Amino acid sequence: MEKVVIHDAFVGAGCAGKQAPVPAATIDAGAIWMHVYDAVTTKAGRYVQGGGCATVGVAGLIQSGGFGSHSKRYGLAAASLIEAEVVTADGKVLMVNACSHPELFWALKGGGGGSLGVVTKVTLRTHDLPSTFGVAIMQIKAASDASYRRLIARFISFYAESLFNPHWGEQVIFKTDNALAIEMSFQGLDKQQANAVWQPFLDWLAQSPTEYQLTAAPIIAGIPARMLWDPKVLKTIPGAVKMDGRPGAPEENIFWSGGEKEAGKFISGYQSAWVPASLLQADQQARLVEALFASTRHWEMALHCNKGLAGAPDEARQAAKDTAINPLVLDAFALAICAGEQLRVHAGMPGHRPDLERARADANAINDAMEALMTAIPQRGSYVSESNYFERNWQQAFWGQNYLRLLAVKRKYDPEGLFFVHHGVGSEEWSSDGFVRAPMS
Ligand SMILES: Cc1cc2nc3c(=O)[nH]c(=O)nc-3n(C[C@H](O)[C@H](O)[C@H](O)COP(=O)(O)OP(=O)(O)OC[C@H]3O[C@@H](n4cnc5c(N)ncnc54)[C@H](O)[C@@H]3O)c2cc1C
Repeated sequence: MEKVVIHDAFVGAGCAGKQAPVPAATIDAGAIWMHVYDAVTTKAGRYVQGGGCATVGVAGLIQSGGFGSHSKRYGLAAASLIEAEVVTADGKVLMVNACSHPELFWALKGGGGGSLGVVTKVTLRTHDLPSTFGVAIMQIKAASDASYRRLIARFISFYAESLFNPHWGEQVIFKTDNALAIEMSFQGLDKQQANAVWQPFLDWLAQSPTEYQLTAAPIIAGIPARMLWDPKVLKTIPGAVKMDGRPGAPEENIFWSGGEKEAGKFISGYQSAWVPASLLQADQQARLVEALFASTRHWEMALHCNKGLAGAPDEARQAAKDTAINPLVLDAFALAICAGEQLRVHAGMPGHRPDLERARADANAINDAMEALMTAIPQRGSYVSESNYFERNWQQAFWGQNYLRLLAVKRKYDPEGLFFVHHGVGSEEWSSDGFVRAPMS
């Protein structure tokens, strides 16, 4: 179930006359994003909104909201869903879209995988490709705590002035050793324009060489957009991708090299929270800066600027409003993620067991870091895919005011509770393993 079919003008089943035809791609639920990007971008010259990791699956990502590097321009992956084929709990195969089963259609857009039905196929809207995709990568080390505070403050004001727009995505990491790692992506700018954007920030750093050191020359580089996921091009870039080493594996089976460490990682702690764009206002920035600095005294904090839709075009924001994801995403400029892991360990495997004592200490530090950041954030919200497994108030955190509507869809399409996942819609009605109904409270 990995087929990808490209359409020039797609209209959902039963929607003729009600929906304008749009370019789209129909993707079988077993496909992974790298194969989808190869089919849609490399081969067909279009853009489809998916996720950053090449081996993540299409069905789970779409149902959980879904962000990619360029979501600040194209919005939520779930919002580009036009139609899904779904096997429901009663064994029926339904074509679900805005005209047929509209409530189930809405719930599939961000309501979380595994709770509502088995998705066998999705049709996603595609977009014109921008001219360029690129990255801006640099790491700056501050000489003291006071310099680091000033660096965080300068970066936040620079972000608010120059990067808070649909061109810029990905992340900045506030490290514990007074270093700032910038790993931003851009689209729709050429290299010269991207360089010009960063020049004032680089000039500011250069004014204080004793306080700030770039640990390597900054990289600001772009490539023609159609090449970004082309396996033939990627294989020529040293260290960019790894290949599927199994005998007979298809040539296009590649994945980002950085993803290798994610296989066999033991997650010690993982927390996330949307950061409201109101904190970018000039009179609010100091609160954010102080909270970020305080958090780094415990653990490193990453702001994923592509995973909040404040600053995105109106069309992307409107489309996200019509999904089940927590509406807090609309007012957030970034998702803060604070996480720790041990690599190449597997519970139960002799010689590779995780160090549980260290993991617990790390989990506590991660918790303290998030608490420090939350002093500036009034309301905790996140999306289900990248969130705290132990989130107590998960219904509110993942879906906010949409939760009751989601629950109504769940009760209509799965009244017996066949589908159950940890912290999925309706899971509070079951024991933690999903086998026994919880006593009514
Ligand atoms: C290394 C890594 C990087 C990631 N990067 C991103 C990112 O850039 N952006 C982002 O948005 N997310 C990201 N994620 C999170 C990712 O979107 C979720 O883990 C998502 O659930 C993965 O989708 P999947 O299809 O692989 O589903 P799985 O992880 O296999 O399943 C997730 C849930 O969906 C259900 N599910 C899966 N397939 C179906 C189906 N066909 N029908 C119904 N239910 C189904 C499962 O039962 C399960 O409950 C990342 C995750 C990892 C591990």
